[in-house]
Order: sequence, then structure tokens, then C-alpha cells
Amino acid sequence: MKICVFPGSFDPITKGHVDLVRRALPLFDKIYVAVGINDQKKYLFSLEQRIEWCQQVFKHDVQVEIGNFVGLTVNYCRSVGAHYLLRGLRNASDFDYEKTISQLNTIIGDDLETVFLIARPEFSHISSTIVREIIKGKGDVSAFVPSEVGIG
Ligand code: ADP
Repeated sequence: MKICVFPGSFDPITKGHVDLVRRALPLFDKIYVAVGINDQKKYLFSLEQRIEWCQQVFKHDVQVEIGNFVGLTVNYCRSVGAHYLLRGLRNASDFDYEKTISQLNTIIGDDLETVFLIARPEFSHISSTIVREIIKGKGDVSAFVPSEVGIG
């Protein structure tokens, strides 16, 4: 059984995240979309809200389960028996950041392999950070988030 964890803040989940999970479905038997809780981070949306949107988006996908975790991603992977991590690459700065994290996770995780999917061109400009800025400025984010994310 190939079990994968897709960790992130999902603050909020975007069309880029959804595309990544859908493209990864044929590669794995199960994907945990794992909503992280990090004390150092200041979130715009509550954990409950972030989880609820993920649940709504993937409610018809039996292979997808929504989880949440505090602390190290590798510990969460161990707790669900996952040997694969899924991450997306939009640009060179994603690559630089992800490369280091992936190498560290290989050392501290149990036989953990990170699978990277390159963002599709139509989604590579989308980030939760940009979406949050537009929300704060009272702009329309419907082009960037799945329809389940009802904001406003
Ligand atoms: P984090 O707090 O870990 O950066 P995010 O929710 O911002 O969490 O992102 C989670 C993962 O989704 C990361 O691997 C990121 O590269 C990927 N991702 C985010 N936006 C996109 C996008 N538009 N296309 C493809 N992958 C994306």
C-alpha cells in the first residue's frame, strides 16, 4: 500500500493544491492532506476552517483523507504509515527550500521519499500568501481557490 502525505498550511487551500493532489492520485493508494499547526506561524484562518474546506473539496475522493498535525512532518508520516511525501514546485525558490527540507527528512524520517510535482503553468502563480493578501484587501479570489472555499 503506497501511502503519501501532502503537508501544508492550506491557509486557505488553493486551486494549485487541488491540482497537485489530483495529479498525484494515480501514483498512490492513499493521500493524507495534512494541515499543519506551527506555533511560529500566524494563520489567517482557523485550523477548523482550513480542515473543513479541505474536507469539502475532497469529499468525493475516497483515496484522500484530511488530517492535521503539530510538530514534525516526519512524525506524522510515521503515525499514518506513510513512506512518501508530496510537494509542489512552482519556481526556483520553491526548489531551493524544498531541496533542503527533503534532504533533512530523508535523514530523520523512516525511509521517507519526497515526490515533487511541477506546478501546471496555469496554477504556478497561485500561492496562499497572495490569496490572503487579496482577501485582506477585499478583492475577489474566486479565480485562485476552489468553489468550496466560500469567502466573504
Ligand atoms: P507550506 O506552509 O508548507 O508552504 P502551503 O500550503 O503554502 O504550505 O503549500 C503546501 C505545498 O503545496 C507546497 O509543497 C507548495 O509548494 C505546494 N503548492 C502551493 N501552491 C501551489 C501551486 N499553485 N501549484 C503547485 N503546488 C503548490
